[in-house]
Amino acid sequence: MLRGLHGFHGLHSPYALSRGIRLEKHRSRSLKKGIRDIEAEKQKENAKGKKKPEFLLIPLYGAEESSARLIHPGDRVEKYQVLTAPGAGAPEVCSPMAGIVEDIRPLQVPLEGSVLCARLRVSGEKQDGDSPQNGKKKSRGKKKETSLDRADILRMAEKAGIRDEFDGTPLPLLAERFRSSGVKVLVGCGLDDDPYGDSSGAVLRECAREAAEGLRLFALACGAQRSMLAATSFYTWRRVVASEKETPVVSMGGRTPARGVLAGKLRRSVGKAGFVGIQACVALYRAAREGIPQTETVVTVSGDGVWKPGNLRVPVGTPIEVLLNRCGVLPDTKLVYIGPAIAGEAVTDLTLPVTQRTRCITALKQQPINKTYACIGCGRCARVCMRGILPWLVHDVINRDTVDPLMLWNVERCTSCHSCSAACPAGIDLAAEVARAAAIRRSGDFE
Ligand code: SF4
Ligand code: SF4
Repeated sequence: MLRGLHGFHGLHSPYALSRGIRLEKHRSRSLKKGIRDIEAEKQKENAKGKKKPEFLLIPLYGAEESSARLIHPGDRVEKYQVLTAPGAGAPEVCSPMAGIVEDIRPLQVPLEGSVLCARLRVSGEKQDGDSPQNGKKKSRGKKKETSLDRADILRMAEKAGIRDEFDGTPLPLLAERFRSSGVKVLVGCGLDDDPYGDSSGAVLRECAREAAEGLRLFALACGAQRSMLAATSFYTWRRVVASEKETPVVSMGGRTPARGVLAGKLRRSVGKAGFVGIQACVALYRAAREGIPQTETVVTVSGDGVWKPGNLRVPVGTPIEVLLNRCGVLPDTKLVYIGPAIAGEAVTDLTLPVTQRTRCITALKQQPINKTYACIGCGRCARVCMRGILPWLVHDVINRDTVDPLMLWNVERCTSCHSCSAACPAGIDLAAEVARAAAIRRSGDFE
């Protein structure tokens, strides 16, 4: 049974998908919603006397060694207080809210694996961020954004604990990666991976100006000559161009996944493209402008298992069940799925926290059936692959009686983005086949 949600009895045995789910039939349910601020909603409810005890499970990245932790069970922490020592191998982690640390222990966080988390009982006092610690944080952003150089930006991103929402990479590391690989054009990625996801689109619609400013700072940090914003739908594109005049904006016409297609087009016309999440761009702008760390995230809660799907702004560390309850989870929900449908994972413990990487939670009333058909030779898998791999060829070669490894070109370059699997109308798990092919190549026993 799913743990942690009262009245929710859909699953009677843990159900984990070995691969993603396909959601084409739900395309019409794509969201075009504004962002609901859960903390603001709670404050209104508290004023009406409906207050419930709350806790957060804050991931303490890079603080496995006790010497890297600045807090202990029983400590009181303020909003934005730094929880991990600088230089612990990961950006600093700051507390999203004030409260008492009850416990520190490792948890299996969805999409991230085992992560040390601090359980924080949120204090009942008003969370207005006016603590001395917060004031100290604010003073860190006093340098004007226009006068920041590359080192300033990287330091600021590290102190603000900013991570890219697409793969969780700390922003300083991503900047270094882009710089060393010669990225020419930087894309502020508002492209959602599947029809149920809308968190990137929602943030882009509502914070286009901040996203463009953050993108400009990040382009400076990674040495990209050009930058642009990318929106999945024409609807989002129209909203963005109305408020952001200086940065070019591209619409991908509602197709998902679109990242690989855009990367291929840019490679042919401008040069190598690097992608950074819209939420990370907005966080970078706020760190520069106001000196505040990235302690909240926007998550789409969707699927036919909730009656009020939406985009929710929540503190990092909020349990999944809180988001589902806010969106009216139905009692006959059978599956809760975290992350992009094709590459995320099913969860059975709903007390686990959301992190900066949790862009989408999908609740479904039926367990999906992944049907597979023969390849029809449409070539979509090759068009979406950012690494120049031909997944249809890999599929063909790897399913022959005798596999010729010399025909498995480029497979070592696969990033496991699952775009090919998502694009394949035949439902073939191409990402898994490419991973198998890469293992064969790596074994090296064919030469
Ligand atoms: S999973 Fe690998 S092969 Fe498939 S699109 Fe991504 S990089 Fe290309
Ligand atoms: S997307 Fe699927 S069906 Fe189309 S060529 Fe690739 S493997 Fe074949």
